[in-house]
Amino acid sequence: MNKKFLPTRSVNAVWHPCTQMKQHENIPPIPIASGHGVWLYDVDGNGYIDAISSWWTNLFGHTNPQINAAICDQLNKLEHVMLAGFTHEPVVELSERLSKLAPGALGHCSYASDGASAIEIALKMSFHYWLNHNQPEKNNFVCLQNDYHGETLGALAVTDVAIFKEIYAPLLRPSSTVPTPDWRYASVGESPREYAQRAANELEKHLQKHHAETAALILEPLVQGAMGMGMYHPEYLKLARQICDNYQVHLIADEIAVGFGRTGAMFACDQANITPDFLCLSKGLSGGYLPLSVVMTNDTIYHAFYDDKTSRAFLHSHTHTGNALACRAALATLDIFKHDHIIETNKIKADYLNQITLPISTHPKVTDFRNCGMIWAFEVETKDPAFSEKFFQAGLKQKLLLRPLGNTVYFMPPYIINEQEMKLLADGTLHVLNSL
Ligand SMILES: *Cc1c(COP(=O)(O)O)cnc(C)c1O
Repeated sequence: MNKKFLPTRSVNAVWHPCTQMKQHENIPPIPIASGHGVWLYDVDGNGYIDAISSWWTNLFGHTNPQINAAICDQLNKLEHVMLAGFTHEPVVELSERLSKLAPGALGHCSYASDGASAIEIALKMSFHYWLNHNQPEKNNFVCLQNDYHGETLGALAVTDVAIFKEIYAPLLRPSSTVPTPDWRYASVGESPREYAQRAANELEKHLQKHHAETAALILEPLVQGAMGMGMYHPEYLKLARQICDNYQVHLIADEIAVGFGRTGAMFACDQANITPDFLCLSKGLSGGYLPLSVVMTNDTIYHAFYDDKTSRAFLHSHTHTGNALACRAALATLDIFKHDHIIETNKIKADYLNQITLPISTHPKVTDFRNCGMIWAFEVETKDPAFSEKFFQAGLKQKLLLRPLGNTVYFMPPYIINEQEMKLLADGTLHVLNSL
């Protein structure tokens, strides 16, 4: 097997995600042979800093020794067993530990494999809750402008990203969109907090009219990832929680990208001191190792389904629900959070990266440089429609894996990134900025 031909064989045999395959005629996919820490190595031995954590999943580095050891240990005990009628220690322990960590009393964990499938669970559960309470007319969902919740039909229906959504519109059930609290939309002289309040007023107006037919509001707390790392003030979450309570509408917090410390707190909802009715987690949940997602909910929701009648139960399943290997990876990830005081050390790292990126944040081509926890983003003033691709290519030459969203460049590095690697990231990015 000649590794040289991997990219060509891949293009012939693998339909790559989120990709116009024809573009691979010019730029073949990069064959990665190994990973260690923040570094990914291609088959020729070139290293790249995974500055976006392989689509926001990796927290503690590639081939992390602790997570590897946990998975190997589990592999020799039990790799998987169906979770209907059966259970196992990793899934029980993970559920108990997540419930302790998560805000409020979210004591019931329902598992799936991908983020989008967690969203499907939350939407269906919310609707079914109201149905079990004889309110079948509460079957609509509200999302935020610029929200992203995944690509399956239910999740896409509550997503507001035109490039993913428009083509499939005929397949999607309509949902409502309320204005984003993203402070880039604030008026001149309006603070992020004031703008968050104004956006919350719009939410209230909407629910005033439509609460009777609305099951839930779904949102990405604090950072709207896929639409370019839009950031907003926690005040919005506080107000959204109050408004949802006042109008008897569920709040679904999609922390698939921002959970597990990304925003500087364990969960973004913690920063507003709120508890959602449904908390969706994935990506970093398994340390980025294996597909695993979970929807956590409270006793009130749970008991609406608890009955002698099967039809009142939540009859939803995914084959690999609660996979033992994935749960062990997640448990090892939680262990690292605890033993290495990750939330605290991340603050020190974030301060350092903020300091050394000063030449970027003050760069004449850069606007709206922003940071939330371990996420950084900025816009680059350019009219080049191929900016993102060119930046990606130029980044690789600086040993950086950066994949801008349009003209938004962002960093979302694994938490184990060290000072030297942060310096490479900041210097390399500045170099690319100056070269384009
Ligand atoms: C990635 C993401 C999803 C979808 O997760 P998949 O695992 O790709 O299905 C949903 N919501 C948010 C906020 C995400 O970032």
